[in-house]
Amino acid sequence: MQSLRFKAIDNLRVQPDAQAGDSTKITAIFGENVFTLKTAREYLSDEAYKSLVASVKGGKRIDRSMANQISSGIRQWAEAKGVTHYTHWFQPLTGTTAEKHDSFFTLKGDGTAIEEFDGAALIQQEPDASSFPSGGLRATFEARGYTAWDPSSPAFILETGSGKTLCIPTIFVSYTGELLDYKGPLLKSLESLNKNAVEVCNYFDKNVTRVTATLGWEQEYFVVDEALFNARPDLVLSGRTVFGHSPAKGQQLEDHYFGSIPERVYAFMRDFETESYKLGIPLRTRHNEVAPAQFECAPIFEEVSIAVDHNSLLMDVMDRVARRHNLRVLMHEKPFAGINGSGKHNNWSMATDTGVNLLAPGKTPKTNLMFLTFFVNVIRAVDVYADLLRASIASAGNDHRLGANEAPPAIISVFVGKYLSEVLDAVEKRVTDKFDEQDEAILKLDLHKSIPELLLDNTDRNRTSPFAFTGNKFEFRAVGSSANCANAMTVLNSIMAETLSRFKKEVDALIEKGDKKEIAIMHVLQQYISESKKVLFEGDGYSEAWAQEAERRGLPNVKTTPLALDAMVTKKAKELFESTGVYNHAELEARHEIELEKYIKKVQIEGRIMGELCTSHILPGAIKYQNILINNIKGLKDIGVDKSAYANQLQILEKISLHINKVSDLVEQMIEARKKANNTQGTRAMAIAYCDEVKGKYFDDIRYHVDKLELLVDDASWYLPKYRELLFLR
Ligand code: ADP
Ligand code: MG
Repeated sequence: MQSLRFKAIDNLRVQPDAQAGDSTKITAIFGENVFTLKTAREYLSDEAYKSLVASVKGGKRIDRSMANQISSGIRQWAEAKGVTHYTHWFQPLTGTTAEKHDSFFTLKGDGTAIEEFDGAALIQQEPDASSFPSGGLRATFEARGYTAWDPSSPAFILETGSGKTLCIPTIFVSYTGELLDYKGPLLKSLESLNKNAVEVCNYFDKNVTRVTATLGWEQEYFVVDEALFNARPDLVLSGRTVFGHSPAKGQQLEDHYFGSIPERVYAFMRDFETESYKLGIPLRTRHNEVAPAQFECAPIFEEVSIAVDHNSLLMDVMDRVARRHNLRVLMHEKPFAGINGSGKHNNWSMATDTGVNLLAPGKTPKTNLMFLTFFVNVIRAVDVYADLLRASIASAGNDHRLGANEAPPAIISVFVGKYLSEVLDAVEKRVTDKFDEQDEAILKLDLHKSIPELLLDNTDRNRTSPFAFTGNKFEFRAVGSSANCANAMTVLNSIMAETLSRFKKEVDALIEKGDKKEIAIMHVLQQYISESKKVLFEGDGYSEAWAQEAERRGLPNVKTTPLALDAMVTKKAKELFESTGVYNHAELEARHEIELEKYIKKVQIEGRIMGELCTSHILPGAIKYQNILINNIKGLKDIGVDKSAYANQLQILEKISLHINKVSDLVEQMIEARKKANNTQGTRAMAIAYCDEVKGKYFDDIRYHVDKLELLVDDASWYLPKYRELLFLR
């Protein structure tokens, strides 16, 4: 029987029609499946509309009677679009999105069928939540968590095939009130940032009443043929290839980045973009990435909470649309060894309700000082909480990128560019007790003109920095491609909120002592620059020299997830999250536990799939070829030829036999190591055991011998699609 691998290769010739979406104008469909405020205006009474707006814009509570009106408006809108079911949509800590569909259909007391969706159904649902991770917060016997409507994110309609479902964005809370999802803490961090940033803004502009954080993510991903994907159990189960020899051609020619998008992938892109536009996801760019079969898309930035929802939704849409095209999209951070992995750059800034981007250099001395204030506070926040930022992006998948000779390093540093480095130096050295002309000169520096020139045109960019200033925003590049951005954003907002609150106290104290406001601000900034400049780095982040320099500077460099996660539960972290109201201690401990468990499970699955592939795919093929060689040598011996006639065959046979034995021995040992790891007491210790004793000791070794076999064994006896097929055939 033909192996799945060869069937898949054969079938590549029979592709579904590569239909490149329709050519509807984007503006004609944008947001058509979203219950926007504009739509709300149409379907809601004045009163209900006002209450919704107050909640969206100002976080005001919506009372029950208004909720009833709003829910009925949403149902009318959805029904007009052919929707029959609704679901509370949320983002549990498993990392995907979750839905439980209910029908509008219900029976009245007398048995008449009606469609109904009341305020209660809008506001709260109780999914059977026992199977979502809770880190022990919600004991399974009282499997009661509930989802609560988040009016700040608009309801939307998800189309799957011909079915349409109304999705109500919600947060997921345990019965006792602890947050069990990504969204809840994110909203709290935004509230804390808002409060503290507004207070600091008011030093410069009393009109500012609200500050929101903004996020523009860049999503990298791989696309492979679905049949080839299905012939790789490791991709199916763990999202990455645990084996596979580098192809003769990888990314060395760098021809993929500049090449045109392959037609089949292009059709897929057009299709998922159309779906995304309907959902109001403002996708803007698409292009090839560096590695073969790797691509990227990015939207126009939005408020963080909406951008996070949109990224989660997009990952889901991409997965579903890819299947329609007989393709699979890989969101894993490192699906293939030897070529680049995937990240999700998080471009982050803060904006006021007066329309000012707080990380955009100002046009006047006053706005320059406001820019400098927020800019320096970000640097300080990253310096003080570098360990927490590192923890926020830690995952089994991301460990293959961070600190593994690939973008970006596990050391968190900040890149600001040459010009701003000079400005910071000048501020640090100047500022006297009397505010003199030189200080005045620093403020008058024409930041607005000089920075865009240097940074926005890419000439002064540093691609190796995990946290880089790019002219009017910071780009947090270390986020993993499969991650929910909320985790990184929650930490970033929280550390910024805490830093600003401290800044305000320090400035106020100086003002109280009689300093002029500007001088007080400059003094505190100066102190922050001195204390935090160790986190600034402009050089090559991948170099060994930087690792050594970072150590001298005392910057943390934690390469593995189980240890990186320690930062979540330090005294410093607990105080930070308590003071910002984002997590209480129990929630933090629970999240730490959940992240460790996720890590353990991921490595466990990879270990299992490695073992299974060796015994069911690799070794049978290798042994088959080993027998062919043995028979060949035997035959040659039988007819009495000279030994030199089969010397080469003997050599190949010896090599193959050696690798077969090695694979088989190492797999046995790995299974023993797994058993031992499973018996380790305590989640953290178990995660470390999986990291060091299972993955660290065996994964690379086993892979080395399997990949050698791939080169030696007859191609016809190799059952797993090879890298060249996964990466280049479509
Ligand atoms: P590149 O990083 O390749 O130069 P862009 O400058 O276009 O790309 O920006 C990348 C992402 O940053 C986009 O999603 C863009 O919308 C987003 N972005 C731009 N300005 C901001 C901002 N003020 N806040 C958050 N994201 C922003
Ligand atoms: Mg970028």
